[in-house]
Amino acid sequence: MKLDADIKNQLAQYLQLMEGDVLLKVSAGTDSVSNDLMDLVNELSSMSSRITVEQTELSRTPSFSVNRPGEDTGVTFAGIPLGHEFTSLVLALLQVSGRAPKAEQSVIDRIKSIQGDFHFESYVSLSCHNCPDVVQALNLMSVLNPGITHTMIDGAAFKSEVESKDILAVPTVYLNGESFGSGRMTIDDILAKLVTSDASEFENKEPYDVLVVGGGPAGASAAIYAARKGIRTGIVADRFGGQVNDTMGIENFISVKYTEGPKLAASLEEHAKEYGIDIMKAQRAKRLEKKDLIEVELENGAVLKSKTVIISTGARWRNLGVPGEAEFKNKGVAYCPHCDGPLFAGKRVAVVGGGNSGIEAAIDLAGIADHVTVLEFMPELKADQVLQDRLNSLPNTTVLKNAQVKEVTGTSKVDGISYIERESGETKHIELEGVFVQIGLVPNTDWLGDAVERTRMGEIVVDNHSATNIPGVFAAGDCTNTPYKQIIISMGSGATAALGAFDYMIRNQ
Ligand SMILES: Cc1cc2nc3c(=O)[nH]c(=O)nc-3n(C[C@H](O)[C@H](O)[C@H](O)COP(=O)(O)OP(=O)(O)OC[C@H]3O[C@@H](n4cnc5c(N)ncnc54)[C@H](O)[C@@H]3O)c2cc1C
Repeated sequence: MKLDADIKNQLAQYLQLMEGDVLLKVSAGTDSVSNDLMDLVNELSSMSSRITVEQTELSRTPSFSVNRPGEDTGVTFAGIPLGHEFTSLVLALLQVSGRAPKAEQSVIDRIKSIQGDFHFESYVSLSCHNCPDVVQALNLMSVLNPGITHTMIDGAAFKSEVESKDILAVPTVYLNGESFGSGRMTIDDILAKLVTSDASEFENKEPYDVLVVGGGPAGASAAIYAARKGIRTGIVADRFGGQVNDTMGIENFISVKYTEGPKLAASLEEHAKEYGIDIMKAQRAKRLEKKDLIEVELENGAVLKSKTVIISTGARWRNLGVPGEAEFKNKGVAYCPHCDGPLFAGKRVAVVGGGNSGIEAAIDLAGIADHVTVLEFMPELKADQVLQDRLNSLPNTTVLKNAQVKEVTGTSKVDGISYIERESGETKHIELEGVFVQIGLVPNTDWLGDAVERTRMGEIVVDNHSATNIPGVFAAGDCTNTPYKQIIISMGSGATAALGAFDYMIRNQ
């Protein structure tokens, strides 16, 4: 397999940035993937005098590890890291060569301070846009800490291993042979799981003027607007970027014709960092209480105090709540068609939900899967007509309306779905391998209990200043009762909430 001219050009430029020598230890057999892998490593070595190749036997074949001469780093690629993993390969070469990673010093220090032996394995598909972040985070950890190793495994090259582990979602990460997590994870998420955060880090924090809880588009916008007023602003976020991290292409972020979720999420954080905002990532709030100041308690036990609080904790995928859904999550039950669709190539899948996201998912999956069945509870699909027309034009799709999902069936993984035909009351069963749930979102507001007024659906009730019923507490974005949930709308309401909070503060000093 020869690299195409474009990739080779890009690679040549990157390889010039290498700062030291790199030894690739290659384990190859006689199969075609091994041959392709040998072509790749030989091509790399022909392009840079800093790269040498040595044949060896690793625990998986074909695979190769990226090392410093005389020092194994633990960074291994099993399969060929091209497609979306091309950047992971380039970064591994640069970082192992000694080039400083583009990570915050606090993150680097946390990685270096981890004690113990941690052997990570991440199963990916080369078309998965969520996988490179995980691969690159784990590679960086391996490069920086001698107790950590990481092997990226291309599921397509190691099919039997993937099947024996019943892996039906990527990325899926194992740590020391045990399941560690799946789906997109940032380096902060991984570190938060690995090393429990200590409440003492937060002990001496002065009260804030504005404390934002949630770091999606609404929270980032609120924090930036607040900080630009020159007031003390903090932001606590479980996953900076929020749902945007899970979004593939974005075409309605006005003035930007096209962008991608992870790129926008990174820009949100970069912009927030411009203003001296106290950013507390990978932290979850668990309680809010209004006293003299407003207190927000984190899951690690720390209590943050602020004159005003803006809640922007967004929303998450709604679950079906039927037997089998939780049991077979990542074993055939999936929520992200862009991420997990490729694992269902040639298989039969169902999409539950006939709104825009459900029909978009069905159209997307029809290009990969053998057959796609859409199940919609109502007598009609709610998706835009243009999407319905597109779906109807595809030969391998079936739409079942008035269908109430009763159970996702299976043994070690999904083997079917049972539903009630609401008109006749009859229960039917379809044999299939995957179920994609696309039935909307649920607000992340359970942690608030009765602290602020919420609707029956759990959405925080706000007025047109984004104020809640509690003086000094504001809310913005998808966690509120705003009728439309979109990036630009969340950002707008985040700005309103910050201005509302500022207004409140100057009137109540
Ligand atoms: C697959 C997908 C595709 C989409 N495509 C588009 C699109 O093309 N265009 C568009 O305009 N919109 C799109 N949307 C919708 C858009 O992403 C949301 O409307 C927007 O992200 C909402 O922003 P938010 O800040 O209100 O909430 P979120 O993005 O949900 O962010 C919530 C934040 O709160 C944090 N959080 C949650 N609970 C806690 C807690 N207890 N403590 C601390 N932090 C917490 C989260 O980690 C996150 O940082 C899409 C959504 C999805 C899921």
